[in-house]
Amino acid sequence: MSTILSISDLRKSYAGGFEALKGVNLEIEEGEILALLGPNGAGKTTLISTICGITTATSGSVTVGGHCIETEYRAARAMIGLVPQEINLEPFETVLSTVRFSRGLFGKPKNEALIEDILKKLSLWDKRSSQIKELSGGMKRRVLIAKALSHEPRVLFLDEPTAGVDVELRKDMWEVVRELRESGVTIILTTHYIEEAEAMADRVGVIAGGEILLVEEKSDLMARMGKKELQVMLT
Ligand code: ATP
Repeated sequence: MSTILSISDLRKSYAGGFEALKGVNLEIEEGEILALLGPNGAGKTTLISTICGITTATSGSVTVGGHCIETEYRAARAMIGLVPQEINLEPFETVLSTVRFSRGLFGKPKNEALIEDILKKLSLWDKRSSQIKELSGGMKRRVLIAKALSHEPRVLFLDEPTAGVDVELRKDMWEVVRELRESGVTIILTTHYIEEAEAMADRVGVIAGGEILLVEEKSDLMARMGKKELQVMLT
């Protein structure tokens, strides 16, 4: 396997000097699913935003598919799909127009067959003509994923994909993520839930106070640490 994402000594201080990331190092292998567990305020969203170049790092480097996010932003960003925590969709657009528009934003040529494939994969094809406002919360989250996949990224970030959703929907999302992985996308997701990391990830990382405390193969971590012990790190 080859490294698709490389993060070296990444630091982020917000105005006022608060250090939200304190030197994060991480290597992500192509095709893996990494779950980053962390409590509120751990720095999960800051880490994702900084990797994606939405937030500027104070120092350190991020390389995606060999492209530096700072100096080769367009090439690096094109490799990344981002599913944000908030549902930020236009209520009066249809599913199809939302996903088409997203692809266009990346300057990619039209590819209706690809969009059909993505919508089918996410069980959204039958809803393609529905307006976003007509969809359930779970379907809206699927549209966010479809949007993020529209420009054919190699790495997909899911920022707390099941925050605030009920148990049924959460399991539904786990299924979606596992299926996406079959199509070869590398996935990094953040979560508060140990069960979620356990259900989806190949490797599990723990982030707290802006630092990565550990990153291990899920099976090794679960064998070494009980859930209770892990839970303590998340409180
Ligand atoms: P949650 O699970 O609650 O979403 P998180 O792990 O995603 O939390 P971040 O949102 O990255 O954590 O926040 C990390 C720290 O940085 C927090 O203490 C937060 O208050 C602070 N922070 C985040 N954004 C800003 C900002 N724009 N300005 C100042 N501080 C910020």
